[in-house]
Amino acid sequence: MSGGDMAKPLLGHRSVEGDPSVVPAAGRTIGVLGSGDFARSLTIRLVCSGFKVVVGSRNPKRKACLFPSAAEVTFQAEAVKKTDVIFVAVFREHYSTLCDLADVLAGKILVDVSNNTEINHHKESNAEYLASLFPACTVVKGFNVVSAWTLQSGARDGNKQVLICSNSQEAKRTVAEIAQVMGFTPVDMGCLSSACEIENIPLRLLPAWKIPIFLSLGLFLCFFTYNLVRQVIHPYIREQKNKFYKIPVEVVNTTLPCVAYVMLSLVYLPGVLAACSQLYYGTKYRRFPDWLDQWLQHRKQIGLLSFFCAALHAVYSLCLPMRRSHRYQLIETAVKQAMEKKMNIWVEEEVWRMEIYISVGIIALGLLSLLAITSLPSIANSLNWREFSFIQSTLGFIALVVSTLHTLTYGWSRAFDENQYKFYLPPTYTLTLLVPCTVILAKVTFCLPCIQQRLLRIRRGWEKGRYVKFVLPSATGEYASGETSSNV
Ligand code: NAP
Repeated sequence: MSGGDMAKPLLGHRSVEGDPSVVPAAGRTIGVLGSGDFARSLTIRLVCSGFKVVVGSRNPKRKACLFPSAAEVTFQAEAVKKTDVIFVAVFREHYSTLCDLADVLAGKILVDVSNNTEINHHKESNAEYLASLFPACTVVKGFNVVSAWTLQSGARDGNKQVLICSNSQEAKRTVAEIAQVMGFTPVDMGCLSSACEIENIPLRLLPAWKIPIFLSLGLFLCFFTYNLVRQVIHPYIREQKNKFYKIPVEVVNTTLPCVAYVMLSLVYLPGVLAACSQLYYGTKYRRFPDWLDQWLQHRKQIGLLSFFCAALHAVYSLCLPMRRSHRYQLIETAVKQAMEKKMNIWVEEEVWRMEIYISVGIIALGLLSLLAITSLPSIANSLNWREFSFIQSTLGFIALVVSTLHTLTYGWSRAFDENQYKFYLPPTYTLTLLVPCTVILAKVTFCLPCIQQRLLRIRRGWEKGRYVKFVLPSATGEYASGETSSNV
């Protein structure tokens, strides 16, 4: 396929005005079978978009009051006679009850909007089943991914894409035009055999989030157990002190930043691994292993979960002084100091550490918020490639460096204090530093001119060991040609 073909939209967006061969979508009569929630919302949307609508119900008298007065509500057979495009807003189980209408439906376009209750619920998709019941009709699958609520709000809110598939290009184009007039974006999904895939879409629960969620839960569990052992189990076993009250807030609050920080570094680690692979093999045309591909594709979700944990950490930290245990400890410390007649408890180093720690933490959270906001499709679409890559790549890396400073100021010199090694386990923050520092070091190394140049050339299409033709001007001004290895 030529580049020109690729640039063409999947569906021909023919201008309705000015092309006499095209029947204007708005203004035509559309039929709707069924008078339930979906049928009602669809009718309202169609009427608002300038279509004439005729609703087919088994009990038109009773249902007419539920529809806008501009729509005609009549018996199913009557409705079907008046139009060529009919939306079947009826559940699959009731398709067979429409078989009496087969003769009047012959030659018409049936739009199957149905969904299932389970993924791959039936052997054949609902649309294929409808097509098998009405072989004289053309079935188009579509509109099932938009809810009745989205239809009513007029695509201003919610999902704007309408996935469409059919074995007839003409029927697909007609339904696509209707969708466009209604304010939706039709997406051509090919033949009717794709209906099964389209029917499964509304039933999928966060498919792109599975791996990132399991990753963050796994990290949370590991760090939580580690902190529990250090902060609760160790004092209980060694000093018989009951510190179990720390579990709901303190242990969780020391775990959340660990997860947020490591997750943030995991957003940038696959990029580092990809660059290492490109440098090693001297080409960008070699496929990355599947696991790295998957990882690269999930960076946005990993980043958003990192932001979620960081935001929770901020809220937990703000609430720390509210705890009764904290108040008791403050009073206890004050009483102790009064008994020991200590008047000046100001420790300059501690004060500075805390000020820097909080300030750097706020900056890191601010940067993470910016990354999260700009990863939302509506915001990302308003940025050009350079702006998006500056925010996600450069500012993201700065966020990682600032988070590292936040962690280092939290730890300060604790890594060198042997009292901090509970059961010989190092402080948690030292563990969390491992991956982020590796990423930062690798990124800094990639900035060295010799490596940066090579990486840049590889990303522009240069390949190690590949012979390329060269053309050089000779001393006489003529051009000499020959072959050389491009990695010389
Ligand atoms: P609903 O409120 O239960 O309406 C179903 C309609 O089917 C009834 O009002 C009824 O209208 C008609 N019908 C025709 N023959 C029937 C029969 N033998 N028994 C019972 N009813 C019969 O359902 P809905 O929410 O509008 O959903 C309709 C279709 O749209 C379903 O296939 C659903 O999967 C799909 N859908 C719905 C949504 C949504 O947000 N609700 C979103 C996407 C897709 P009459 O009594 O007037 O004949």
